[in-house]
Amino acid sequence: MNIGIDIGGSHIGVGLVGSSGKIINKKEVDILPEDKKNIDKKIITTVEKFIKQILKEQDITIKEIGYIGIASPGMIENNCIYNVVNLDLEKLDIAKPLEKEFKLEVKIKNDAKCAGIAESMYGSTKTAQDNIYLCLGTGIGGAAFLSNKLVEPRYRSGMEFGHMIIQKDGRECKCGSKGCFETYCSMKSLKRQIAETLELPNSLSGTEIVNEIRKHFNDLRVEPVIKDYVQYLAIGIANLVNIFEPEIVCIGGSFVFISDLVIPKVKEEIKNKKLLFNERKELKIVPAMLGNDAGIIGAASIL
Ligand SMILES: [Zn+2]
Repeated sequence: MNIGIDIGGSHIGVGLVGSSGKIINKKEVDILPEDKKNIDKKIITTVEKFIKQILKEQDITIKEIGYIGIASPGMIENNCIYNVVNLDLEKLDIAKPLEKEFKLEVKIKNDAKCAGIAESMYGSTKTAQDNIYLCLGTGIGGAAFLSNKLVEPRYRSGMEFGHMIIQKDGRECKCGSKGCFETYCSMKSLKRQIAETLELPNSLSGTEIVNEIRKHFNDLRVEPVIKDYVQYLAIGIANLVNIFEPEIVCIGGSFVFISDLVIPKVKEEIKNKKLLFNERKELKIVPAMLGNDAGIIGAASIL
Protein backbone atom coordinates (compact mmCIF):
# COMPACT_ATOMS: atom_id res chain seq x y z
CA MET A 1 0.00 0.00 0.00
CA ASN A 2 1.13 3.52 -0.80
CA ILE A 3 -0.25 6.97 -0.09
CA GLY A 4 -1.12 9.00 -3.20
CA ILE A 5 -1.60 12.75 -3.01
CA ASP A 6 -3.09 14.90 -5.75
CA ILE A 7 -2.44 18.62 -5.50
CA GLY A 8 -4.57 20.56 -7.96
CA GLY A 9 -5.24 24.24 -8.51
CA SER A 10 -8.51 24.06 -6.59
CA HIS A 11 -8.44 20.79 -4.71
CA ILE A 12 -6.29 18.44 -2.59
CA GLY A 13 -6.89 14.69 -2.50
CA VAL A 14 -5.12 12.11 -0.34
CA GLY A 15 -5.72 8.39 -0.80
CA LEU A 16 -4.54 5.06 0.49
CA VAL A 17 -3.99 2.92 -2.59
CA GLY A 18 -3.71 -0.87 -2.64
CA SER A 19 -1.37 -2.91 -4.84
CA SER A 20 -3.98 -3.29 -7.61
CA GLY A 21 -4.45 0.46 -7.90
CA LYS A 22 -7.65 0.42 -5.89
CA ILE A 23 -8.30 3.40 -3.61
CA ILE A 24 -8.99 1.98 -0.15
CA ASN A 25 -9.70 5.27 1.61
CA LYS A 26 -9.73 8.84 0.33
CA LYS A 27 -9.98 12.31 1.83
CA GLU A 28 -10.52 15.42 -0.26
CA VAL A 29 -10.94 19.12 0.23
CA ASP A 30 -11.44 22.09 -2.10
CA ILE A 31 -9.00 24.97 -1.99
CA LEU A 32 -11.02 28.17 -1.79
CA PRO A 33 -9.71 31.56 -2.96
CA GLU A 34 -9.59 32.76 0.68
CA ASP A 35 -7.29 29.81 1.54
CA LYS A 36 -4.60 31.13 -0.76
CA LYS A 37 -2.85 33.09 1.97
CA ASN A 38 -0.14 30.87 3.49
CA ILE A 39 -1.36 28.19 1.13
CA ASP A 40 1.88 26.18 1.36
CA LYS A 41 1.51 25.68 5.12
CA LYS A 42 -2.19 24.87 4.69
CA ILE A 43 -1.47 22.22 2.06
CA ILE A 44 1.17 20.54 4.25
CA THR A 45 -0.96 20.50 7.42
CA THR A 46 -4.03 19.28 5.47
CA VAL A 47 -2.07 16.44 3.89
CA GLU A 48 -0.58 15.41 7.26
CA LYS A 49 -4.01 15.49 8.88
CA PHE A 50 -5.59 13.40 6.09
CA ILE A 51 -2.83 10.77 6.21
CA LYS A 52 -3.23 10.39 9.96
CA GLN A 53 -7.03 10.15 9.63
CA ILE A 54 -6.76 7.49 6.94
CA LEU A 55 -4.29 5.40 8.98
CA LYS A 56 -6.57 5.63 12.00
CA GLU A 57 -9.73 4.74 10.07
CA GLN A 58 -8.06 1.77 8.40
CA ASP A 59 -6.46 0.76 11.69
CA ILE A 60 -2.97 0.46 10.18
CA THR A 61 0.41 1.93 11.09
CA ILE A 62 2.72 4.00 8.94
CA LYS A 63 5.09 0.98 8.78
CA GLU A 64 2.61 -0.73 6.44
CA ILE A 65 2.94 2.10 3.89
CA GLY A 66 5.56 1.80 1.13
CA TYR A 67 6.00 5.45 0.24
CA ILE A 68 4.14 8.74 -0.22
CA GLY A 69 3.65 9.84 -3.83
CA ILE A 70 2.59 13.31 -4.92
CA ALA A 71 1.04 14.36 -8.23
CA SER A 72 1.60 18.06 -8.71
CA PRO A 73 1.39 20.79 -11.31
CA GLY A 74 4.36 23.11 -11.72
CA MET A 75 8.01 22.31 -12.23
CA ILE A 76 9.62 19.64 -10.08
CA GLU A 77 13.31 19.82 -9.27
CA ASN A 78 15.24 18.15 -6.44
CA ASN A 79 11.97 16.79 -5.01
CA CYS A 80 10.60 20.30 -4.59
CA ILE A 81 7.72 21.91 -6.50
CA TYR A 82 8.24 25.29 -8.19
CA ASN A 83 6.01 27.76 -9.99
CA VAL A 84 2.52 26.42 -9.29
CA VAL A 85 0.71 29.16 -11.22
CA ASN A 86 -2.84 28.18 -10.21
CA LEU A 87 -1.95 28.45 -6.51
CA ASP A 88 0.22 31.57 -6.91
CA LEU A 89 3.06 29.58 -5.37
CA GLU A 90 6.68 30.08 -6.35
CA LYS A 91 7.85 27.15 -4.25
CA LEU A 92 6.17 24.32 -2.36
CA ASP A 93 8.67 22.37 -0.30
CA ILE A 94 6.38 19.56 0.80
CA ALA A 95 8.66 16.49 0.68
CA LYS A 96 10.89 17.44 3.62
CA PRO A 97 8.15 18.03 6.22
CA LEU A 98 6.31 14.85 5.17
CA GLU A 99 9.50 12.78 5.31
CA LYS A 100 10.23 14.18 8.74
CA GLU A 101 6.72 13.56 10.07
CA PHE A 102 6.18 10.06 8.66
CA LYS A 103 9.76 8.78 8.14
CA LEU A 104 8.80 7.65 4.65
CA GLU A 105 10.21 8.31 1.21
CA VAL A 106 8.30 11.03 -0.67
CA LYS A 107 8.23 10.91 -4.49
CA ILE A 108 6.89 13.83 -6.53
CA LYS A 109 5.93 13.74 -10.19
CA ASN A 110 4.11 15.97 -12.67
CA ASP A 111 0.34 15.51 -12.42
CA ALA A 112 -0.22 14.65 -16.09
CA LYS A 113 2.49 12.00 -15.88
CA CYS A 114 0.85 10.54 -12.76
CA ALA A 115 -2.53 10.40 -14.51
CA GLY A 116 -0.83 8.77 -17.49
CA ILE A 117 0.81 6.19 -15.21
CA ALA A 118 -2.59 5.37 -13.66
CA GLU A 119 -4.30 4.98 -17.05
CA SER A 120 -1.38 2.93 -18.31
CA MET A 121 -1.40 0.55 -15.34
CA TYR A 122 -5.11 0.31 -14.53
CA GLY A 123 -7.14 2.34 -17.03
CA SER A 124 -7.76 2.99 -20.72
CA THR A 125 -4.26 2.17 -21.95
CA LYS A 126 -3.40 -0.87 -19.84
CA THR A 127 -3.38 -3.13 -22.91
CA ALA A 128 -1.02 -0.85 -24.87
CA GLN A 129 2.71 -1.04 -24.16
CA ASP A 130 3.29 2.05 -26.29
CA ASN A 131 0.80 4.80 -25.53
CA ILE A 132 0.33 8.52 -25.19
CA TYR A 133 -1.64 10.24 -22.45
CA LEU A 134 -2.85 13.74 -23.18
CA CYS A 135 -4.55 15.86 -20.53
CA LEU A 136 -6.79 18.57 -21.98
CA GLY A 137 -7.80 20.76 -19.07
CA THR A 138 -6.77 24.27 -17.98
CA GLY A 139 -3.63 23.70 -20.03
CA ILE A 140 -2.28 20.65 -21.84
CA GLY A 141 0.01 18.12 -20.21
CA GLY A 142 0.95 14.64 -21.11
CA ALA A 143 3.06 11.54 -20.87
CA ALA A 144 4.48 8.99 -23.27
CA PHE A 145 5.04 5.30 -22.59
CA LEU A 146 7.23 3.06 -24.70
CA SER A 147 7.41 -0.67 -23.83
CA ASN A 148 5.35 0.16 -20.72
CA LYS A 149 8.01 2.59 -19.52
CA LEU A 150 7.35 6.28 -18.90
CA VAL A 151 9.62 8.29 -21.19
CA GLU A 152 11.58 10.70 -19.00
CA PRO A 153 14.46 13.01 -19.87
CA ARG A 154 17.30 13.12 -17.33
CA TYR A 155 17.41 16.79 -16.38
CA ARG A 156 14.04 18.36 -17.21
CA SER A 157 10.54 17.00 -16.97
CA GLY A 158 9.96 17.23 -20.75
CA MET A 159 6.81 16.04 -22.50
CA GLU A 160 5.53 19.62 -22.70
CA PHE A 161 3.04 18.65 -25.38
CA GLY A 162 1.03 21.80 -24.63
CA HIS A 163 3.88 24.03 -25.79
CA MET A 164 4.44 22.31 -29.10
CA ILE A 165 3.93 25.11 -31.63
CA ILE A 166 1.18 24.28 -34.10
CA GLN A 167 0.62 27.75 -35.59
CA LYS A 168 3.31 30.20 -36.75
CA ASP A 169 2.82 33.62 -35.05
CA GLY A 170 -0.32 32.20 -33.45
CA ARG A 171 -2.09 32.99 -30.22
CA GLU A 172 0.06 34.22 -27.35
CA CYS A 173 0.79 31.59 -24.71
CA LYS A 174 1.51 32.23 -21.03
CA CYS A 175 4.91 30.55 -21.59
CA GLY A 176 5.98 33.57 -23.68
CA SER A 177 5.79 31.79 -27.02
CA LYS A 178 3.11 32.01 -29.70
CA GLY A 179 0.93 29.39 -31.36
CA CYS A 180 1.30 26.73 -28.65
CA PHE A 181 -0.97 23.67 -28.85
CA GLU A 182 -2.61 24.54 -25.51
CA THR A 183 -3.65 28.01 -26.64
CA TYR A 184 -5.84 26.28 -29.26
CA CYS A 185 -6.81 22.97 -27.72
CA SER A 186 -6.96 23.21 -23.93
CA MET A 187 -10.47 22.91 -22.52
CA LYS A 188 -10.00 26.37 -21.05
CA SER A 189 -9.50 27.78 -24.54
CA LEU A 190 -12.48 25.88 -25.99
CA LYS A 191 -14.74 26.90 -23.09
CA ARG A 192 -13.74 30.55 -23.44
CA GLN A 193 -14.46 30.57 -27.18
CA ILE A 194 -17.81 28.81 -26.80
CA ALA A 195 -18.82 31.11 -23.93
CA GLU A 196 -18.00 34.16 -26.12
CA THR A 197 -19.83 32.76 -29.14
CA LEU A 198 -22.96 31.87 -27.18
CA GLU A 199 -22.67 35.00 -25.03
CA LEU A 200 -22.93 32.92 -21.88
CA PRO A 201 -22.98 34.73 -18.52
CA ASN A 202 -19.63 34.97 -16.72
CA SER A 203 -21.15 33.30 -13.68
CA LEU A 204 -21.29 29.85 -15.31
CA SER A 205 -19.02 27.19 -13.84
CA GLY A 206 -16.73 25.01 -15.94
CA THR A 207 -19.20 22.10 -15.72
CA GLU A 208 -22.08 24.33 -16.82
CA ILE A 209 -20.09 25.53 -19.84
CA VAL A 210 -19.32 21.90 -20.76
CA ASN A 211 -23.08 21.21 -20.64
CA GLU A 212 -23.67 24.19 -22.94
CA ILE A 213 -21.03 22.84 -25.35
CA ARG A 214 -22.87 19.50 -25.44
CA LYS A 215 -26.25 21.18 -25.89
CA HIS A 216 -25.13 23.45 -28.73
CA PHE A 217 -22.53 21.16 -30.31
CA ASN A 218 -24.27 21.07 -33.72
CA ASP A 219 -25.51 24.68 -33.70
CA LEU A 220 -24.54 26.74 -36.72
CA ARG A 221 -23.18 29.48 -34.44
CA VAL A 222 -20.82 27.07 -32.70
CA GLU A 223 -19.82 25.13 -35.81
CA PRO A 224 -16.80 27.29 -36.86
CA VAL A 225 -15.36 27.15 -33.31
CA ILE A 226 -15.70 23.36 -33.15
CA LYS A 227 -14.30 22.99 -36.66
CA ASP A 228 -11.21 25.04 -35.73
CA TYR A 229 -10.80 23.13 -32.48
CA VAL A 230 -10.99 19.77 -34.25
CA GLN A 231 -8.48 20.85 -36.90
CA TYR A 232 -5.91 22.01 -34.35
CA LEU A 233 -6.45 18.98 -32.12
CA ALA A 234 -5.97 16.70 -35.13
CA ILE A 235 -2.65 18.43 -35.94
CA GLY A 236 -1.42 18.15 -32.33
CA ILE A 237 -2.38 14.51 -31.98
CA ALA A 238 -1.00 13.60 -35.40
CA ASN A 239 2.34 15.23 -34.49
CA LEU A 240 2.52 13.12 -31.34
CA VAL A 241 1.51 9.94 -33.19
CA ASN A 242 4.17 10.56 -35.83
CA ILE A 243 6.84 10.92 -33.13
CA PHE A 244 5.86 8.15 -30.71
CA GLU A 245 3.76 5.76 -32.85
CA PRO A 246 1.54 4.82 -29.89
CA GLU A 247 -0.94 1.94 -30.05
CA ILE A 248 -3.47 4.13 -28.21
CA VAL A 249 -3.83 7.85 -27.54
CA CYS A 250 -5.71 8.41 -24.29
CA ILE A 251 -7.21 11.82 -23.54
CA GLY A 252 -8.05 12.94 -20.01
CA GLY A 253 -8.93 16.20 -18.27
CA SER A 254 -12.38 17.76 -18.60
CA PHE A 255 -12.23 16.83 -22.30
CA VAL A 256 -13.64 13.42 -21.32
CA PHE A 257 -17.06 15.06 -20.94
CA ILE A 258 -17.18 15.93 -24.66
CA SER A 259 -14.93 13.12 -25.93
CA ASP A 260 -17.79 11.12 -27.51
CA LEU A 261 -18.66 14.15 -29.68
CA VAL A 262 -15.14 15.31 -30.57
CA ILE A 263 -13.02 12.15 -30.98
CA PRO A 264 -14.86 10.81 -34.09
CA LYS A 265 -14.39 14.21 -35.77
CA VAL A 266 -10.69 14.32 -34.90
CA LYS A 267 -10.14 10.81 -36.27
CA GLU A 268 -11.93 11.77 -39.48
CA GLU A 269 -9.85 14.96 -39.83
CA ILE A 270 -6.59 13.04 -39.35
CA LYS A 271 -7.65 10.50 -41.97
CA ASN A 272 -9.01 12.98 -44.52
CA LYS A 273 -5.99 15.28 -44.32
CA LYS A 274 -3.58 12.31 -44.33
CA LEU A 275 -1.77 13.70 -41.29
CA LEU A 276 -0.08 10.43 -40.31
CA PHE A 277 3.32 9.61 -41.74
CA ASN A 278 2.82 5.86 -41.37
CA GLU A 279 -0.44 4.41 -42.52
CA ARG A 280 -2.41 2.43 -39.99
CA LYS A 281 -5.67 0.53 -40.11
CA GLU A 282 -7.17 2.38 -37.20
CA LEU A 283 -5.98 5.17 -34.93
CA LYS A 284 -7.23 4.43 -31.44
CA ILE A 285 -8.09 7.61 -29.54
CA VAL A 286 -9.94 6.91 -26.30
CA PRO A 287 -11.09 8.92 -23.27
CA ALA A 288 -9.38 8.39 -19.91
CA MET A 289 -11.43 6.24 -17.53
CA LEU A 290 -10.10 6.91 -14.04
CA GLY A 291 -11.38 10.48 -13.84
CA ASN A 292 -10.39 12.54 -10.84
CA ASP A 293 -8.82 9.53 -9.12
CA ALA A 294 -6.08 9.20 -11.73
CA GLY A 295 -3.76 11.64 -9.89
CA ILE A 296 -3.97 9.81 -6.57
CA ILE A 297 -3.65 6.35 -8.15
CA GLY A 298 -0.76 7.43 -10.36
CA ALA A 299 1.07 9.16 -7.50
CA ALA A 300 0.81 5.92 -5.51
CA SER A 301 2.14 3.94 -8.47
CA ILE A 302 5.34 5.86 -9.29
CA LEU A 303 8.12 3.31 -9.78
ZN1 LIG B 1 3.33 27.82 -24.57
